[in-house]
Amino acid sequence: MNEKDSENMTAELSTKENYKTTSAINEADLIILNTCSVREKPVSKLFSRLGTINKQKKHTARIGVCGCTASHLSEEIIKRAPYVDFVLGARNVSKITKAIKQKGFVDVDINYDETTYLFKGFENQTYKRKINISIGCDKSCTFCIVPNTRGTEISIPKELIINEISKAADSGVVEVLLLGQNVNNYGKTFSNKNIKSSFVQLLRDISKIDKLKRIRFASPHPLHMDDEFIDEFSKNKKICKNIHIPLQSGSTKVLQDMRRGYTKQWFINRCERIKEKLPNVRISTDIIVAFPTETQKDFEDTIDVIKKVQFDQIFNFKYSSRPNTQASFLKTIVTDDIASNRLEQVIQLHKEQIDKKMASTIDKSYEVLFEQKNKNGDFVGFSDNGYQIHSKNTKDILGKIKEVKITNFHRTYLEGLVS
Ligand code: SAH
Repeated sequence: MNEKDSENMTAELSTKENYKTTSAINEADLIILNTCSVREKPVSKLFSRLGTINKQKKHTARIGVCGCTASHLSEEIIKRAPYVDFVLGARNVSKITKAIKQKGFVDVDINYDETTYLFKGFENQTYKRKINISIGCDKSCTFCIVPNTRGTEISIPKELIINEISKAADSGVVEVLLLGQNVNNYGKTFSNKNIKSSFVQLLRDISKIDKLKRIRFASPHPLHMDDEFIDEFSKNKKICKNIHIPLQSGSTKVLQDMRRGYTKQWFINRCERIKEKLPNVRISTDIIVAFPTETQKDFEDTIDVIKKVQFDQIFNFKYSSRPNTQASFLKTIVTDDIASNRLEQVIQLHKEQIDKKMASTIDKSYEVLFEQKNKNGDFVGFSDNGYQIHSKNTKDILGKIKEVKITNFHRTYLEGLVS
């Protein structure tokens, strides 16, 4: 989502203000740091990074801080780093062309509705496009800062989404990634109260766009994974069979403390239903260990879910207390040593599972969309079910979907031959 916000700002600046991107900080006239605040670490990195940039930049260059940390620290950023020229919150990035013209510009209003803005195309991306389908979040997970930085959830009207994807497909885009904090809650709230739609309906309508070949989305919320959604996911040929389902914790008690709205059993049941219908599906997840109320038994429930579901990818995090979230007021029963140990156990278990899974891909074939070349000159792409696959080829296969037979495996990617 942050990448998409950065792309939107780049598109605004290049189409309206004639900016071009550069990778050399000392050449830039404008430097924007787009930030995350989901965990504490990126926030603490911000000020050291700003200090370094301030030393490296051209004397006349301006610096802007955007995104979620901008939303929650606001003017504080300019107080601590007076050489910062402007601050724009995650929901306000559409004001970028205004912000660059006004020294000291600060806008972090989370009620600002930027739905009219969201679809500036980004020309550097040829085959894949990220598309926002909703902004903000209306959940109240007790650990999470996102609703405070991105505001309440608003779905973007379906016509705008379809129109944008059709234009993208006409220009050569073959795959879209639909973005939202809870994509499968799409259609619950529009800024115009008369509009009605649902995520399943949106998926059906998008898949009618002829030139578009693949649809991905991130992330669905486990609570809204009803049978209708799972059926559409399984049957719709254009939807890639790779799904991110954020578990957070395997303990029903901790899930309650987190206000996630589902139980351990519900989560396992949803994954089993998907796997029954799609044996080759790949499921990834997010896990937070050491939530303040997590006992050893709760943690074992998380391990149990990992063993049962056999995730293909896990993004694991140690709980990080965020300002003004409900969990930040809880007294923790977990020491930092225990937290590190739990994180390590999740990482080790997952590594063992992944090594077996990657080895089992040898001689299997996957449909791969090749999207770039790496420094060895190999073509790199992703299979429908989300494996990163490298292939040597003499013919140019960029932008094409090809069948690839796997010849070698590594922990994070596979190698194969185009048939
Ligand atoms: N909307 C998504 C979450 C987006 S944030 C959802 O509801 O699942 C991405 C991930 O960051 C979360 O899934 C969670 O695992 C992690 N995260 C969020 N807040 C965190 C915190 N306070 N400490 C550690 N990890 C956190």
